[in-house]
Amino acid sequence: MFASALGDEAVSINVEPLRKILQLEGEKGYLDSAVIGGLDKFLRRWTAQATQSITSPQLLHQFERLQLINSSYASLTREQRKEWVDKVFAFLPELERFEVRGEVRLPQEAIMPPPISRRPSAAKGQRVAVQSIDLPITALKGISTSLAAKFKRLGVETIRDLLYFFPHRHLDYSQRKYISQLTEGEEQTIIANVWQAQVIMPGGRRSTEAIVGDETGNVRVVWFNNPYLAKKLPTNARVVLSGRVGLFGGRHVFESPEWELLEDKELVHTGRLVPLYPLTQGLHPRQVRKLMKEVVDQWAWQVEDFLPAELRQRCGLLELPQALAQAHFPESEAAKDRARVSLAFDELLLLQLGVLARKRDWQEGQPGNSFKVKPRVLNAFISSLPFKLTAAQHRVLAEILADLKEPRPMSRLLQGEVGSGKTVVATAALLVGAASGYQGAFMAPTEILAEQHFANVCQLLSRAGEQVAGGDNLSSYSGLLPRPLTVALLIGGINQAQKQEIQRLITGGNIDIIIGTHALIQKEVEFKRLGLAVVDEQHRFGVTQRSALRQKGFNPHVLVMTATPIPRTLALTLYGDLDLSVIDELPPGRQVVKTKWLKPSQRDSAYAFVRQQVAEGRQAFIICPLIEESEAIEAKAAVVEYERLSQEVFPDLRLGLLHGRMSVAEKDEVMHRFRSGESDILVSTPVVEVGIDVPNAAVMLVESADRFGLSQLHQFRGRVGRGQEQSYCMLLAENPSEIGRERLDIIGKIHDGFQLAEEDLRLRGPGEFFGTRQSGLPDLRLAKLSDVALLEQARDEAIRLFEKDPSLEKPEHRLLAKELARVWQSGGEWS
Ligand code: ADP
Ligand code: MG
Repeated sequence: MFASALGDEAVSINVEPLRKILQLEGEKGYLDSAVIGGLDKFLRRWTAQATQSITSPQLLHQFERLQLINSSYASLTREQRKEWVDKVFAFLPELERFEVRGEVRLPQEAIMPPPISRRPSAAKGQRVAVQSIDLPITALKGISTSLAAKFKRLGVETIRDLLYFFPHRHLDYSQRKYISQLTEGEEQTIIANVWQAQVIMPGGRRSTEAIVGDETGNVRVVWFNNPYLAKKLPTNARVVLSGRVGLFGGRHVFESPEWELLEDKELVHTGRLVPLYPLTQGLHPRQVRKLMKEVVDQWAWQVEDFLPAELRQRCGLLELPQALAQAHFPESEAAKDRARVSLAFDELLLLQLGVLARKRDWQEGQPGNSFKVKPRVLNAFISSLPFKLTAAQHRVLAEILADLKEPRPMSRLLQGEVGSGKTVVATAALLVGAASGYQGAFMAPTEILAEQHFANVCQLLSRAGEQVAGGDNLSSYSGLLPRPLTVALLIGGINQAQKQEIQRLITGGNIDIIIGTHALIQKEVEFKRLGLAVVDEQHRFGVTQRSALRQKGFNPHVLVMTATPIPRTLALTLYGDLDLSVIDELPPGRQVVKTKWLKPSQRDSAYAFVRQQVAEGRQAFIICPLIEESEAIEAKAAVVEYERLSQEVFPDLRLGLLHGRMSVAEKDEVMHRFRSGESDILVSTPVVEVGIDVPNAAVMLVESADRFGLSQLHQFRGRVGRGQEQSYCMLLAENPSEIGRERLDIIGKIHDGFQLAEEDLRLRGPGEFFGTRQSGLPDLRLAKLSDVALLEQARDEAIRLFEKDPSLEKPEHRLLAKELARVWQSGGEWS
């Protein structure tokens, strides 16, 4: 009966007769005398006609609500009749509006029934004594210690955690239909009467079958493997069903829908936007949802809104309790989005405020060291280099030098594509520091890299002066400086006596540049006058570690370097406590590394290619799969692969093996042999990822390439193409997932690190990309860092707040200050 009107022609409902009759009825004093046979009879005819042309469930719903269908006017008292007539009158203009617009043309959401809203449950707004939302969840009724243990696995321990335990998505069960309107495949909701529910055994599976009906028809419902439901659905119960409808024997059947009895309380599992929560073993969707509903109703309003009211209004954000409630059990899609934006804004604002305060503390805490830049020293260094600095290197060096001259400690992030020449710039800065009488620390994420930096820095510095031989881990540089420059390497693997000797020299101020891993600042290394700390590969080096530096009693200039390019806005947000420099230019003559994703069947031709390149005098890397469980397992796998390659594939070639479990001396030996051309192929765990520099290496073969992120693959690829020869990167993947395939396609096409970073961000999501957890920044649950507009708004507001009230002392900022301290847990650094 509804299908007929689904054409394009405008539909009209003749409202006029009804209006006239109702008017007359009113004039006659509501005696049911306006039409012969009574109003009910008239209405039956009129509604039958009107509803013929109506496809809008919303309109039908209205008809039903107003009791235009199956009316019982005759049985009402005169007052009730008047009331009813008034209501229908009020509805008529709406009805006409439909008529004029031609309802079938309205967008889908406009014509569906509104979400089935029930009176909110009594708990909401019922103010029980305010208790701390930081209580453990066992303080809640119905949460046992064993249930709490399950939630703990999901990171939920307190009531606050529960309130911030957001669903990963919502099912849209808000689209109510009449049974006659059900269509196959879509998610739909009906409200119906249970006629009968019983246990059936289709194919031997004990299941529940029910027949339910509404005013437009009946439909069968089956819950497979669930015989228990039969008892919960008594005949004549009103039930709400949400789910998909299938066809069985040519008839519609609801298949295992969500269900809920229609009682005098808000719907939780059906007929609305229904939240889906992350689960763990022993937690069930309905159980968690029901619990969350109770918790949100009871506790969301007790969360203090820490944003100043003025700011919240100006930015059009929901109040915090409301935002929390809507994020869990939204009234509509729009309300859900608004809640997400509001909560995301809060996260970003707190992030920004924290980051800004750190920058202020860093720069204003204690005076730093102003370096004297000696042009003669610097020029000697630059002119001794075997190449000309690029314009970008010059520009960035100037930015750094300007900072170093200031008594305010530098905190600068240097971004530069793989191979863009960051090390030279850092070395120049360290030299300037040494020439001013300060010590410098240069930290790398791995020992192999520290060793390589040591070799590079020594080599770069020694070009300008005559080299003086040092010990194993000492090298001296002299020339234009009043005394010889001493560079040392301090890493875990060197022997105890050497270590103590180097530490003694550092403490005595006899070492100018000390190179090592992050352990440099974490262990008990005592500097005499630390003036500059350079940190390579910032994404592995957190805010916390930077603070640790300062706690060594120095306030050094800090330069952090990364080859993971980050879009500017993001950099300002996440590393907003750092100033930003970018080397956006590669040295001339670098060629594009030809990158190809190979099918498993092409493995042999990949090996043949490696062999051919080696025959032409090049060298190759083979990267073993990433194994996250442990370094030991990863190392073992690399050993096995190395054996296989040496014995079965390249028995005639010289292979080297590198993994994280080798001693420093062993690694040193392997790297040395590879760099000097004594081995042809280096088989390595992914430790080789960052920084390793061997110009003659022209082939990179990556196993299980689909398991690496784009930025990481780009890093690998950056290990080749550093010399003059055309270089190649071959990616092997056994059985890549869809997202893995997409990455492999992208890496083959895009060679710009910034563009890749954006793609990586898109594919992996910000959490993984930036590892905010590791970097000491607060967790972002709802904020997407790809939402640039919101990010900028939060940043603007944070700056504005910060300018107005830098230590958040004003009474209207008291709660904000408290929340900030809680989120950052920084031990009162802010207050
Ligand atoms: P990254 O930015 O990846 O750390 P490096 O500093 O390791 O890059 O530099 C990569 C290679 O490029 C090194 O071999 C370095 O000597 C060389 N290099 C650096 N700057 C230049 C330049 N301006 N011209 C030519 N080669 C350069
Ligand atoms: Mg580097």
